[in-house]
Parts: sequence; C-alpha cells; structure tokens
Amino acid sequence: MLDLIVRHCNLPDGRQNVDVGVQAGRITAVQTALPAQAAQELDAHGQLLTPPFVDAHFHMDATLSHGLPRVNQSGTLLEGIALWGELKPQLTQDALVDRAMAYCDWAVAKGLLAIRTHVDVCDERLLAVEALLHVRERVKPYIDLQLVAFPQDGVLRSPGALNHLKRALDRGVDVGGGIPHFERTMSQGAESVRILCEEAAQRGLRVDMHCDESDDPLSRHIETLAFETQRLGLQGRVAGSHLTSMHSMDNYYVSKLLPLMKEAGVAAIANPLINITLQGRHDAYPKRRGMTRVPELLAAGVPVAFGHDCVMDPWYSLGSGDMLEVAHMGLHVAQMTGQAAMRQCFEAVTTAPAGILGLDGYGIAPGCHADFVLLQAADPIEAIRLRATRLAVVRRGQVLSLTPPNTARLNLPGRPAQVDFRR
Ligand SMILES: [Zn+2]
Repeated sequence: MLDLIVRHCNLPDGRQNVDVGVQAGRITAVQTALPAQAAQELDAHGQLLTPPFVDAHFHMDATLSHGLPRVNQSGTLLEGIALWGELKPQLTQDALVDRAMAYCDWAVAKGLLAIRTHVDVCDERLLAVEALLHVRERVKPYIDLQLVAFPQDGVLRSPGALNHLKRALDRGVDVGGGIPHFERTMSQGAESVRILCEEAAQRGLRVDMHCDESDDPLSRHIETLAFETQRLGLQGRVAGSHLTSMHSMDNYYVSKLLPLMKEAGVAAIANPLINITLQGRHDAYPKRRGMTRVPELLAAGVPVAFGHDCVMDPWYSLGSGDMLEVAHMGLHVAQMTGQAAMRQCFEAVTTAPAGILGLDGYGIAPGCHADFVLLQAADPIEAIRLRATRLAVVRRGQVLSLTPPNTARLNLPGRPAQVDFRR
C-alpha cells in the first residue's frame, strides 16, 4: 500500500498516461498502469505533472513593500533605488518576516517550492539577513529557500560592506553575491569579482552575482567572473544574473565570450519581467529589449534560468509569484517561439534553475522527492500559454495547495455551457 498515486499524468518530457507512486515522501514508481493501491489517489486526467517551479533570482527582503513609504510614481529604476533608500531605515524585522512569509504562501499556491533570494547585506544591523534566516527555517518543510549575500551598494563602494558580507556568510547565508557594475570603475568591478569569488571558494560556497545589469556594451564583468570561476575551480557552481549588457555587446566579442562561459561552467539567469521594463530606458526609438542573449547562450551549452526578481516592491509594482508568467515573458522577449524553444522556456523555470541551485532529488523519477505540481494543461507549451492553474501542489507526498480548475460558465444560446480555454 503506497501513500499516494497520481494516475494518468502527462510528463514534461512528453510521456503520457503515466502513474506516479509515492511512499514516505519519495517517488517510488513512474510507469503506466502501476499495479498498486494507495491511501490517496489523484486522477490527473491526462494533464501535466511537473516538478515544482524554481525561482533562481528573487529579492525577498523587498517583496510586498509596494507603497512603502510611498508609491514609485515614475516606475523607473532611479526612483525605485531612491525609494528603497527611504524605506531601509524604517524596516523592522517583524515586518520583513511578515511580508516574506506572505510571499511564501503565494509561492506555494503557485507551485513555486524553491527560491534563491538575494538579501541586502549593506546594513550594519544585518536586519534583512536575520529576518530571512528566520524565514528560511520556518518555511523549510515546504520551500527550499537559498540566501545570497548581496552587497546592494557595492562591496568596495560601500564602507564596511565586505565585513558585513562576511558576517552574513558566517551567520549561514548560503551563496556569495556581488554587483560589479555598480562599483566606481571597471577595474574596481573586476577587483570585487576576484575578492568575492575567493571568499566563496574558501568557504566552499556557490556564487551568484548581479552582473552587467546595464545597457553599456563595455560592461564585461561576466568575462572576469568566468575567468575567476576557472582559476578557483568553481566550475558548475557560479551564475551570472541579468547579464543585460550582452544584449548590446559587439557580436564578435560575444562569439568569444559564450565559449568562455561554457568552458568555465558558468550559468546565466535572465529576469525577463524586470529586464524588459528597466533596460533601454535611455534609448530613443528603436529601443533595445535589453534581455541577455538567451537562445545563443543555450545553443552554446550554457544553462539558462529565468528569475522573477521582483514582486510588488520599489522597482516593480506587479507580479504574483507565477513562474509561468515569467516564462511567458521570457519566451516573447527572446522570440523563442519554436517548439523546442518554448519547451526550453518551461525548463528555464523548472529543471535549469534546479541545477543552478544544486537541488537534490529534484524531478519526476523513482528516488526523487515526491514534490510536484499538477497543472490544468496537457504539456509545457500549453502551460505557458494559459499560465495554467495549479490544480494540486505536492511536497514530500503531502498535498499543500489545491486550486479549482479555471472554467467559465457561458450563457450563449446553442453554445456549450462551459469553456476552459484548452484545445
Ligand atoms: Zn536582482
């Protein structure tokens, strides 16, 4: 007798009519017509069972602060930064925890069960660090929360920042961060990459830097990040977030850079919702899109994830924790409308970020954690098209969230009584 069986599932790899058996929090069987019984059975009716969504790039210390202390009227990055500066002295640990916990509720309902969040360490009190360490423990049973020590004001530019960052890592923050393009000069940016990578390597940590979030084609800190990754033996453990300058770079230079990133085992994290709204703001028409070169990175063998980055904070007043909305935007901005490319956009919010975060036991296969989401869609492309309803969200074999199917009752003579938007 198993704990749970989900019958008649479609899987992201294209397999159909598969049963998934669960025992003691792990998947024990993935096969057609599983000859077993379970305490609880769900019928997927040929809909998609996917491993949970994973957000590789988020800012949980700022989320849901929209309107505090006032609304960003212009919607620009500069007013957002000014607003964060106004809000920071007013932050309290309780308020940070409350907002983060509320966001984690949204995340669970949206099937988002692993999040890498940057946390601002440019604060002597380490208020946000302490708050999110507390949240990481509280949500551990249902969300894998990974914290990145992020020196928002620049590790060299901001007095004491390196010391604060080291204290944050001492306290148990998981990943080393950075923001080289925000340092005062290109050489200081490169120096910050070297210092931060050495710090992470000494501690055996992963690295994820905000890197080249700029329209300046000469912002090339990703090159230094790839070099330091190789020099310090950090291959497969380093990600460059944003990398928007790559959009504007000279094509010849990019033809050298992409193999360098591949060789160094550096991953890329694009943030489509934020990159398309914040980049190219100084352009007259035609305006650049500004998102990094996603299809070209993938073709070069570089892992690419899409992150949400912001939800209802000083920089972005929209968002709901829906990684399918993120994939939908990424697909459009990168013009990834080919059949294989659309599936890659789904992977960019599931398997690719799971690899970047180093999640263990992730996937729909025997031996993996029994963590999955049943979507009201037949396949990954339909899931993106519909930003499909998360019918059931399961973690370690326990159903955490149920959402009714999205249907409309029609009142049209001679037409069906219901539409559900699937083909
Ligand atoms: Zn960010």
